[in-house]
Amino acid sequence: QPHDWLTDRQTYVARGVNNAHPVVIARAENARVWDITGREYIDFVGGIGVLNVGHNHPRVVAAIQAQAEQFLHPCFQVALYPGYIELCRRLCVRAPIRGPVKGALFSTGAEATENAVKMARSYTGRSAVISLTHSFHGRTLMGMSLTGKASTYKQNFGPFAPEVYHTAAPYSYRGVSAEQALDRLDELLITTVGADQVAAIIVEPVLGEGGFLPLPAAFLRGLRERCTQHGMVLIADEIQSGVGRTGTFFAIEHSGTEPDLVLVAKSLGGGLPISAVIGKADIVDAPAPGGLGGTYAGNPLACAAANAVLDLFDDGELLPQAAALGEQLRAGLDKLAVGFPQIGEVRGIGAMLALELVEDPLTKTPATALTQRVVEQARERGLLLLKAGLYGNVIRVLVPLTATPRDIHEGLLRLEAALEAA
Ligand code: PLP
Repeated sequence: QPHDWLTDRQTYVARGVNNAHPVVIARAENARVWDITGREYIDFVGGIGVLNVGHNHPRVVAAIQAQAEQFLHPCFQVALYPGYIELCRRLCVRAPIRGPVKGALFSTGAEATENAVKMARSYTGRSAVISLTHSFHGRTLMGMSLTGKASTYKQNFGPFAPEVYHTAAPYSYRGVSAEQALDRLDELLITTVGADQVAAIIVEPVLGEGGFLPLPAAFLRGLRERCTQHGMVLIADEIQSGVGRTGTFFAIEHSGTEPDLVLVAKSLGGGLPISAVIGKADIVDAPAPGGLGGTYAGNPLACAAANAVLDLFDDGELLPQAAALGEQLRAGLDKLAVGFPQIGEVRGIGAMLALELVEDPLTKTPATALTQRVVEQARERGLLLLKAGLYGNVIRVLVPLTATPRDIHEGLLRLEAALEAA
């Protein structure tokens, strides 16, 4: 009689912690996972963007093992270790920011968000922060407050942090252009909060939880101009879009826009919790010594894993692989869209791609129930998918960049069968 983990889960684990799939995992390798009954799944979710180098990459595992034999935790606030310093240096080199660049390490994406705001406030001496309506920036107080996507992420959790303002995200499929979104921002800066009170504007270059909406280059450039003009710090939250997902190391590189601070997390650690804020040295250095940190921030095991992930990128094959995989996926999704009129839009950059499902391509009414059925039917066929978007009608793909063409081909076949069955 196998152990009934699902019943134990119901009994002992908070319902607020959601599981997209009632699947109990036993083992995983690259883009495939197996449950405790031995069923195999192709993983198009990639740990919600954590597994750009795949499950259990052998070089990441080896680096963690080697570090575990040396030391687990001196705490960087107590004594230095090379892995932390080296990881900061390498991320500074990778950051799409000119001039002197410095960084600090944390454990989660939400902590990166919190600390970027601390740096921006400390540097500017201002308090207001602006984010986008469809954004997600984490589950801590500032992360939740900045999050523009209304959902159970925020429901009943207020009061939220003061001095946070939301402005429209461009969403061309639903009729909000880059120019309109910039007009709304300008309006906010005139009617609601003066630009001279704004410490930072934070944006995801590709909105993740909000529905995989790539911010148009014109919008990002417009933000850059306004930030430069008014002395506001431009923060790029690359927690989901970074670490090679879109075919460049950071998604914002596609637009040629330079942020002041960039947030990295998720795939940086190859599966271990680590995050970073990297940016212009004078902004990163604004908080006084002791102002930044955390007991586990930049933990040695996680640094070793992250340095191994960066080794894989330094080898030079991963970014071209991400672009090629993205092309294969895009071609497959575009082909599916021809056969299924309820696929309203295929969008994304590189290997950060999504389908938006609608009841009818003319009305564009979100097909929320259908999307849930597709996810369930896909699971029945051995494909793990995850939803996104304000109405839960977007299917996003965050398959490991190391997935084989065969993984993608089989995954797309299973997705097609799921769409037919739903
Ligand atoms: N920012 C973005 C864009 C994210 O996608 C996420 C997580 O999904 C976060 C912040 C929060 O990261 P974490 O869950 O590691 O705190």
